[in-house]
Amino acid sequence: MTGNIADTRATWLDDATIERVLASSCSREDPARAREVLAKARELKGLSLTDVAVLMGLSSPELTAELYHTAKAVKEEIYGNRIVLFAPLYISNLCSNECLYCAFRKSNTEVIRRALSRDEILEETRIILRQGHKRVLMVAGEAYPGSGIDYVLDAIDAIYEAREGGGNIRRVNVNLAPLSVEDFRRLKERHIGTFQLFQETYHRPTYESVHLAGPKRDLDWRASSFDRAMLAGIDDVGMGLLYGLYDWRYETLALMMHIAHLEERFGVGCHTISVPRIEPAVGSDLASRPPHAVSDEDFLKLVAILRLAVPYTGLIMSTRENAAIRGLTLELGVSQISAGSRTNPGGYKEDSQFEAAQFQLGDHRSLAEVVKDLGDHGFIPSFCTGCYRLGRTGKDFMDLAKPGLIKAKCAPNALSTFEEYLLDYAGEEERLAGECAIAASLDGMEERTRRVSEKLLSKVRSGQRDVYC
Ligand code: SAM
Ligand code: SF4
Repeated sequence: MTGNIADTRATWLDDATIERVLASSCSREDPARAREVLAKARELKGLSLTDVAVLMGLSSPELTAELYHTAKAVKEEIYGNRIVLFAPLYISNLCSNECLYCAFRKSNTEVIRRALSRDEILEETRIILRQGHKRVLMVAGEAYPGSGIDYVLDAIDAIYEAREGGGNIRRVNVNLAPLSVEDFRRLKERHIGTFQLFQETYHRPTYESVHLAGPKRDLDWRASSFDRAMLAGIDDVGMGLLYGLYDWRYETLALMMHIAHLEERFGVGCHTISVPRIEPAVGSDLASRPPHAVSDEDFLKLVAILRLAVPYTGLIMSTRENAAIRGLTLELGVSQISAGSRTNPGGYKEDSQFEAAQFQLGDHRSLAEVVKDLGDHGFIPSFCTGCYRLGRTGKDFMDLAKPGLIKAKCAPNALSTFEEYLLDYAGEEERLAGECAIAASLDGMEERTRRVSEKLLSKVRSGQRDVYC
């Protein structure tokens, strides 16, 4: 793609190259080459398209175990034991598209349509705050009531304005349909964190066959969204795919091409990658029988490969997956998870997980249960929003992350936000377990980071809130 704003063709999406790399490097296991790639991955500089294809070709238990081992080591080195938590907030299920896999698609009469009012958004946010969350992912279908995008912009304002027990949402990420550069500029003015958009599938024939009507039919308009977002100054973008629509290997290579395109054009790729697999959805036959369902085994491999391919990019796992799979992927590379989620507008207030939901959830646990489980497995839950608050976004973030400097910020911020959670929202037993986990983390830290952490922790313990470095 050129620098021309109006040019929306995703010319970087090179189907012939993907097919060629798949055929030459992924079709059979090559142990010597695979070990070379794993050794390269340990240098934390990421992997090429061909390297990724080599790892996708692994099939023997021995090499798969080596892949997992390497992914775990890379994850630990870059992310330590921190896991960032967030809650999705669905504001509307109105939609003008016909995505065959989604319950919100326009012609689906089995879903009651609803766009939350400002008061309802405030109320949902307050419920999320009462759980202890500080980050929200705002989600909507592609049809907005009233004056279009203004509905979304006002919703973001409402989420930031909501207050509950002294707490407020500190970072609103959004998962929305593609916008024009002008509308992206307006979105940026609302101080969003990450702009997320899942391409669903990069395979043109598949894309056409599952998006039957509405603006989403245009693959290129969707695939060029991040270009427009970045031209508008939004430099934290979140990519994703809907795994199960087409061959996961093809999709993952195309995703790598997309990242390479952004890196080449803007000097920074994506901030996060989400890896949803299709889940059953009300009124969708396709969602019950995904044409290219990804097995658990391939799914774990995929997470491990992504961890090695783009080591500094956050990997997000939603509550689409069940607790057991989520647990395994945390070990292999996932750095952010949602918890206590509802995927229907008004779902937190109504405490309903099914009525008008976008898809079926696999993990129904509350935030408190997820926090406890994370602790039991040696992870530190983090509610940190520090980087984005301090303007450490896009290339600035990556410039700190790549030489390993971001760790000295993330570790203290994770502990201070976890301490806030323990003091303000946790029960006695949970608090005691959490304090032990914090003490153990401090013990394992190098001296300077430990001093910064202790300073932040003492501020929180003396009553200050929202402290970060
Ligand atoms: N409507 C906007 C769009 O499609 O980009 C943004 C929000 S949409 C509600 C968020 C994402 O949910 C979609 O991009 C799609 O990947 C995912 N999704 C839709 N149906 C799903 C299903 N049955 N199982 C899992 N994820 C699904
Ligand atoms: Fe609408 Fe998004 Fe669902 Fe497609 S995936 S029907 S665009 S809400």
